[in-house]
Amino acid sequence: MATVVVGAGIIGTAIAHDLARRGRQVVLVDRDGPGRGASFGNMASIAVTEFMPASRPSIWRQIPGWMLDPEGPVRVRPGYMPKLIPWFARFIAAARPSKLRALEAQGAALCGRALGDTLDLLNETGLQNQISEEGCLSLYTDEVEFRADREHIEILDRFGFPHEVIGRQAIQALEPELSDKIGLAVLFPQNRSMKDPYKLVLALAARFQALGGRIEQGEVIGFTRSDRMREVVLKDGRKLPAEEVVIAAGAFSARLMKDLGEPIPLETERGYHTQIMSPGIALKHSIIWPARAFMVTPTADGIRVGGTVEMAGLDAAPDYRRSKVTVRRATEALPNLRCEGFTEWMGHRPALPDTVPILSASAKTKGLFYATGHGHLGLTYAATTARLMGQLITGAKPALDLHPYRVNRF
Ligand SMILES: Cc1cc2nc3c(=O)[nH]c(=O)nc-3n(C[C@H](O)[C@H](O)[C@H](O)COP(=O)(O)OP(=O)(O)OC[C@H]3O[C@@H](n4cnc5c(N)ncnc54)[C@H](O)[C@@H]3O)c2cc1C
Repeated sequence: MATVVVGAGIIGTAIAHDLARRGRQVVLVDRDGPGRGASFGNMASIAVTEFMPASRPSIWRQIPGWMLDPEGPVRVRPGYMPKLIPWFARFIAAARPSKLRALEAQGAALCGRALGDTLDLLNETGLQNQISEEGCLSLYTDEVEFRADREHIEILDRFGFPHEVIGRQAIQALEPELSDKIGLAVLFPQNRSMKDPYKLVLALAARFQALGGRIEQGEVIGFTRSDRMREVVLKDGRKLPAEEVVIAAGAFSARLMKDLGEPIPLETERGYHTQIMSPGIALKHSIIWPARAFMVTPTADGIRVGGTVEMAGLDAAPDYRRSKVTVRRATEALPNLRCEGFTEWMGHRPALPDTVPILSASAKTKGLFYATGHGHLGLTYAATTARLMGQLITGAKPALDLHPYRVNRF
């Protein structure tokens, strides 16, 4: 009998591939086919320096201003506010000083492995050409803006993540298209980017199939259980026999987990991108401008601009005004950027209030596993998640203590 992995985003596909490599018989099931969820259009960054938990007093101070500003980096749609309250209460609770220190260490433990595990996975699968050689530049107009971001830099120092502060001349030498408004930058050499995150999922899915893995298209609506997992039930009536089941359905995991008797406080932090096919400029590094809350990544098909968070649930229609705002901000940093020949996209980041993912066996049912809640770092964490889940599911000792990432921690 097989292990059935539910959800063929980067997380589910990487886990399915890892299990197949370990000799398991694996079925990967997705309602839309591989890579059409959040993994389709993320900002492509292996963002190993971005593990700082989102909830902290310095962030709360900015929240009221953001709420009032429809163009702000975080937007809560007014009608969604009441539904968000329980999640938000947990988000605030995650910033207790002792909790915060633990969460930083848990994020750093995953990020410390992320680039190495990603490179191993790309090498094993012959996909080395999918990753850039250059890192990421974090931009600041001046010392004042830089000091406002010092908490982030201090955490990187504490956990030993390499970074280098550079001045205007060095910035211009690395990226001549950047505006001379930018007086200071931090180079994160390990934050490499993928050329096309969607094609990465497709390529990984193809490698999985070459190892004997099977992909099924269908929407999972339920499960058959006795003392352990037995079957995965699809909307079209099919039943997939399963010795083990892995829930990796991104922001949609909570709906399935509620049915399985293990509800989790999972929200969608909706994010947007604009893919500009004819940008009129070339970039080597990805760039972020923390004070303006956007990111720009050079990809195989031009330049991708994105970022921001919108809290509006899984079902509301996209509001593409948010992508237009990020492009406008990006042209402040890149004055020659032309927005011609572009597409816009919205995706659902699977966000837990304490920022770290769930990488866990079920606390209730034998043969059931969860890998979800990767938030802003699903691409970054994918190879590490796959390795750890592969070890957990096959009974090997995981390379990291997985207790902090357990499903019943809430
Ligand atoms: C704008 C934006 C920028 C981002 N930038 C970055 C970045 O630079 N770096 C980074 O590391 N991360 C980034 N992320 C986050 C990253 O994209 C996500 O964390 C990651 O894609 C989550 O992967 P996943 O496989 O868990 O979810 P998904 O990719 O959403 O996959 C879940 C899959 O489950 C399927 N599914 C759901 N329910 C069912 C069901 N009932 N039956 C069958 N199938 C089902 C869906 O069809 C989907 O294919 C970004 C996200 C956004 C939105």
